[in-house]
Amino acid sequence: MKKNDDLISDEELSGIRKKYQSERTKRLRSDGMSQFNFGTGDFSRFIDDPNQVDKNPRQALNDEVEVVIIGGGFGGLLTAANLYKLGIKDFRIIEQANDVGGTWYWNRFPGAQCDIESYIYMPLLEELGYIPSEKYASGHEILNHCQRIAKAYGVYKKGCFGTSVTELLWKEDIKKWAVKTDKNDSILCRYVCSSSGILNRPKLPNISGIKNFSGHAFHTSRWDYQYTGGSSAEPMENLKDKNVAIVGTGATAIQCIPKVAKDAKHLYVVQRTPSSIDVRNNCPTEENWKNSLQKGWQQERIENFNEAVSGRNIDKNLVQDAWTSVVEMTIEEIQKSGLPESEEDLDLLSEKIDYKKMSQIRDRVDKTVKKKKVAEALKPWYRQWCKRPCFHDEYLQTFNKENVTLIDTEGKGIEQIEMNDIVVNGKRYPVDCIIFATGFDFFPDINRRLQCKIIGQENNEISEKWKDGVSTLFGIHSQGFPNCFILGNKQSTATINFTHTLHEQAKHIAYVIHHSKSNNFESVNVESKAEEEWVKKILEQSSPLQALFPECTPGFYNNEGQNDFLKPQDGSIANTSEYFAILRSWRKEGSCRGLIFS
Ligand code: NDP
Repeated sequence: MKKNDDLISDEELSGIRKKYQSERTKRLRSDGMSQFNFGTGDFSRFIDDPNQVDKNPRQALNDEVEVVIIGGGFGGLLTAANLYKLGIKDFRIIEQANDVGGTWYWNRFPGAQCDIESYIYMPLLEELGYIPSEKYASGHEILNHCQRIAKAYGVYKKGCFGTSVTELLWKEDIKKWAVKTDKNDSILCRYVCSSSGILNRPKLPNISGIKNFSGHAFHTSRWDYQYTGGSSAEPMENLKDKNVAIVGTGATAIQCIPKVAKDAKHLYVVQRTPSSIDVRNNCPTEENWKNSLQKGWQQERIENFNEAVSGRNIDKNLVQDAWTSVVEMTIEEIQKSGLPESEEDLDLLSEKIDYKKMSQIRDRVDKTVKKKKVAEALKPWYRQWCKRPCFHDEYLQTFNKENVTLIDTEGKGIEQIEMNDIVVNGKRYPVDCIIFATGFDFFPDINRRLQCKIIGQENNEISEKWKDGVSTLFGIHSQGFPNCFILGNKQSTATINFTHTLHEQAKHIAYVIHHSKSNNFESVNVESKAEEEWVKKILEQSSPLQALFPECTPGFYNNEGQNDFLKPQDGSIANTSEYFAILRSWRKEGSCRGLIFS
């Protein structure tokens, strides 16, 4: 490699590695994920839905539809929309929440915004003639868009909300699935599609004394506007005489902290590990740009972003945001240093480039936060992809406000909750309200993620088949589970823009169901050989992130530092464009290779 004076030297890097290592060690705990509760026992009230909902019990359903879709988030909505476009309208979305929206139904906290550009994140914009009002739209606007999709594609007609599927049972004699729910429904369907989401069960720290707290407490995904007053767009007037603690400083916390700081009497931010906060640069949608859009613009922009963040050659970077700029910087540094000759050289170069990026992030803290000690505490000491990178232009400034105190727990978290106080490092802080921005169960185990029993041919359960790792074709079909389609990132691909993956999978699923129906087939299964070949392909891929995680500071990406959950088989195609191209050319070829229809 050529000498590149813009990057850190090998000697300096070794010092940084030690610093990162010591910060990681500080945070490692023996209890791993069991430090959290997922809304059971004393914590069950934390998962109740605070939104206005009809609590009257409905009559149990006993009927039949062509397709059942589990999940009313973007995955489910896109599946419905693509089926509808192909003339298949007899479907039913079954959704735990009381409306569509998934993540955006639950996460109504003030300041919620998508952190991928809305023009590529919000699907079906062209079809529905809608352009978001800002480059990064608010959660409220995204939820409205989910409802817009649902209305346009007939989702509300048969939709079944406030309902969880508990069991799917394949009936070989009639070639249909029997679906059971927690509302005693019994539904028969020919096809079932599951898009149950990846971050949807709130987790709360098992802090001693939580049930003795006399104030009010809630999780960010169940924001209690009845208590705070206001709404996601209006000031929370009830907080003006309240001392509030926000626990956590992840992607959610950094968005709601500036809002609460504006409205509360005093805000305590309880930090365990600081996030990396890069520039946001949100802006209203430009009229001229909006008027210049030509047919096909959205798909082109989505693909352009995917190519840009995958480091591939593109004529023009259309999105130009903080995600693409990280990759541009990497390419620039590689050009200056020359192409690495070995994998070790490439790893070393990536590490140095990462250090450069993280130094910029730490410098930004120094430039923005006035109190030196607070600025030091807000600096992240780990490689950027160890945690979800965050982007915000008001978060760091919040710590210059008189009514905001950063409680840096140096990786330890809250120690104790008492009747009127939180306790950190032996010090008491009196608070009226505790808001847990402590994240979600990442469901590293796919069986937990599916959330219902799936019993296929010969009474085999999918959890049994997948106990040593997922086994699918394209991450979507699994042999022995006919007419069942799964959306998600296991054995498929991991895009930064998750709705891109979901949409490509939804198109594929709609195509297969349409093919099956129009040829009067009753079932579609997978050839064992095709599945084996796909699993082999997945095993041959090694994701650079999977290699990085064991050295990372604990967090949900690496199962709180307990890396043992990473089954190689649960990985995905590293080259996202390759995955999409495989699905596209498979459909183009038209023979449905690897599937058996009968
Ligand atoms: P995270 O898991 O990212 O963050 C949880 C936070 O809680 C961390 O700061 C964690 O600290 C802290 N924490 C956990 N336990 C304790 C404790 N005992 N005491 C003190 N602090 C504690 O959850 P988020 O909800 O912030 O984000 C989850 C994901 O949701 C993101 O990664 C992103 O994918 C998505 N998201 C997307 C958004 C968007 O698109 N706009 C917005 C918000 C979220 P530590 O780091 O030490 O574990």
